[in-house]
Amino acid sequence: MPLHYNPNKRKEAFACAKAMTVVMKYISTRGMITSENAIGSADAIKRGLAPDGGLFMPLEFPKLSKEEIEKYIPLSYPERAFEILSKFLTDYPGDVLKKACLDAYSEKTFEKGAAPIKKVCNDLYSLELWHGPTCAFKDEALQIMPKLLSAALKITNEPKTAFILVATSGDTGKAALEGYRDVDKVKIMVYYPSDGVSAVQKKQMATQEGENVEVCAVHGNFDDAQSGVKKIFSDPDAQRRLNEKGYFFSSANSINWGRLVPQIVYYVSAYCDLIKTGDIKNGDKISFAVPTGNFGNILAAYIAKEMGLPVSRLICASNTNNVLTDFLKTGTYDKNRTFHTTMSPSMDILISSNLERLLYLCAGCDKTAEYMRSLAQDGKYTVSSDVMEKIEKTFVGEFASENDCKKTIKETFEKYGYLCDPHTAVGIFCAKKLKKANEKIVVASTASPFKFAADVCRCLGHTDFSNDFEAIDALSLHTGAEIPGPIASLSSKKVRFSDAIDPDQMKETTLSKIKA
Ligand SMILES: *Cc1c(COP(=O)(O)O)cnc(C)c1O
Repeated sequence: MPLHYNPNKRKEAFACAKAMTVVMKYISTRGMITSENAIGSADAIKRGLAPDGGLFMPLEFPKLSKEEIEKYIPLSYPERAFEILSKFLTDYPGDVLKKACLDAYSEKTFEKGAAPIKKVCNDLYSLELWHGPTCAFKDEALQIMPKLLSAALKITNEPKTAFILVATSGDTGKAALEGYRDVDKVKIMVYYPSDGVSAVQKKQMATQEGENVEVCAVHGNFDDAQSGVKKIFSDPDAQRRLNEKGYFFSSANSINWGRLVPQIVYYVSAYCDLIKTGDIKNGDKISFAVPTGNFGNILAAYIAKEMGLPVSRLICASNTNNVLTDFLKTGTYDKNRTFHTTMSPSMDILISSNLERLLYLCAGCDKTAEYMRSLAQDGKYTVSSDVMEKIEKTFVGEFASENDCKKTIKETFEKYGYLCDPHTAVGIFCAKKLKKANEKIVVASTASPFKFAADVCRCLGHTDFSNDFEAIDALSLHTGAEIPGPIASLSSKKVRFSDAIDPDQMKETTLSKIKA
């Protein structure tokens, strides 16, 4: 009999529905915003960073019951997204949120589905998060985050337009451009270093479509572009002139709650799909292995677990920049180490900003503020043993060397016929290394192999190409894999942006792009 025929259960459900209308409140990980002055979700998304430098987190996590998971099984991805996001973004009108989910995750944006799951071999699955417009997992968040920001401006009666300023080393810039293009009440400008992005990435950005987008190259490397943007953000004259024209500066980086919350959805969705295919029963525990850089993706998996998703372990997979592997083994986070350039560049990171959210959950805001002070001062901190105990209950760290990564790409293709990119290969390597008997592990697959075609070709033993564009064709030819639409169509796209400027011209160039 359906639950609501039981009068007691019905009362419970009613109380629950009433509780749902309560606005979910957000606090800062460093303690300046607490339960007493907590803010709504729209405000948290509009502000991005808390005034004490901390990150926004919900005061408590909404619960996900076994019955709800059962209910989600027949739903489409956009419908599942709506159910999960509704639990967190309680001050968004339902119809606005529903439209955002349907538009962000439609077949127009994610041709082959938003997060399909493929079986690699026994007990090992690949959750493909790269079927969006830029062929990497950042699309999962950046397709919906701009819509959430735009709605947040309306909800908070913000009269100004958000001006998103981004310095990019490649992937994030393009994903942000695709996400923010033609979104109401926002404008976006992306700077990329003239000698810091691949030929494919450059072409992707130079051909960007949309009425509210600007793209410009900066002579120099990524640091030049990045510090130029930071300077503009903190320049009172630039801010005043922007405000006068009816705009305010905002950023698209991965610490915004609006980028994290959409990532919870695909972990729940993967679980539902595994029930659907009969690989697991509702209630069975599974593990996730996540190729990690900034710690955002894996933290979303942890939140899903805290909500009630049956998760056994989270495997934090790193490349040779293994600062997180060491942290999870020793309790000391130490960024004072050699930086390595690897085949998985999106994980070449020494400061994982979203780790702060895990510290807050396991240590509270006072200790978190202390750890972050120590990180800023000495580049390192050590968490206490009780904190480490909590972290170790769920997380385990492992890393792959460049050679491990290369061997994994080759072996995974030759043995199982599954073609993966270097980031995903890091995840698969760590999953296989740590896997226990009968443990089912889902690897978050974070990029299309065609995005890193030259390296993937070389790993497979093919070198018959002379540039990145030729490598794309070669990879398809040798493996029989289909080139994703957004990459295949690149050669026929018209170049719209070809300006290149010096770093000291960035401020005036930025301001010149704004009409009052
Ligand atoms: C950003 C990125 C990652 C790292 O994700 P985090 O959330 O920063 O840990 C991994 N792989 C790819 C392809 C990425 O673009």
